[in-house]
Amino acid sequence: MRNYYLGIDIGGTKTAISLADNSCRIMDSSFIQNIKSEDFSPVQSNIFRAVDELFRRNGLSSEDLLSLGISCPGPLDLEKGLIVYVATTGWRNYPIVDEFKKKYGIPVFLENDCNCAAFAELSNGAGRGCNSIVYITVSTGVGCGICINGALFNGEFGSAGELGHVCVDPAGKECSCGGRGCLQLYSSGTSMAAIAAERSKTEDSFLSGKDNITAHDVETAVRKGDKLALKVWDDAMDKLGIAASIIFLLINPGVIVFGGGVSNAWDLMESKILTSMKRHVYSDLHSKIKIRQAALGKVIGTTGAILLAKQYKGL
Ligand SMILES: [Zn+2]
Repeated sequence: MRNYYLGIDIGGTKTAISLADNSCRIMDSSFIQNIKSEDFSPVQSNIFRAVDELFRRNGLSSEDLLSLGISCPGPLDLEKGLIVYVATTGWRNYPIVDEFKKKYGIPVFLENDCNCAAFAELSNGAGRGCNSIVYITVSTGVGCGICINGALFNGEFGSAGELGHVCVDPAGKECSCGGRGCLQLYSSGTSMAAIAAERSKTEDSFLSGKDNITAHDVETAVRKGDKLALKVWDDAMDKLGIAASIIFLLINPGVIVFGGGVSNAWDLMESKILTSMKRHVYSDLHSKIKIRQAALGKVIGTTGAILLAKQYKGL
């Protein structure tokens, strides 16, 4: 009997795969490294193999599945079921929904990774009990997923939540999107690392002379009390707070949830983001501001994909 769901969370370098029962409770997961390829086909074959292995481990087959959900970075064409372009990997115009349908013969639901994560946190994570939440991911870039009145909000043309390209400094740096002063030029892990690397050439810092500085290096330097790293970190958190205050005033979410690699340093983020938000939100509403770290960890994407696949009625 068909009684199970499969969730696949495809990232730039890794893919998570989860099996869930018909109440969407995750029973088992696999985490694999993606094959490095600008063509998505070999990456997909590798995912198929990992799914087979997960089936074997649990004594199941695709015959037991109700449906399958895929979480993927975008932009995606949700109507046609296509990966349009993934900048970090070079994947282009790939008919992922048709390919997975062909392989498993069940309904396949595709959604943007931030949206899957947002829906997962609303239903099973840090947003449980709320009707409306916003999820912000801070990692290579800055992204966001919006849930309003219990449902995912995609916007009129499917690209709601482009928080990384919201302007936080009109006189700021030029962005690849054509804009200026976009949030992710300051607050993404990649940008924090690049800014710290550049400034450490001329300013005294633990990071001076170090090669290939990462966001994690910046975090470590902050913990050691490095002044330059702290300035870069504080500016990134201040600007995240500006963006979060705009979200808060516009949507009044029950909670704003922060995920992504950088958010592992939540103890260094929470109070700084809150302070910034309170500077930009009028005081009557301060008691309503709630921010939290994402709760679902490595299965955030597969959880969201499974929950959305369960709701999906299409074929
Ligand atoms: Zn931009």
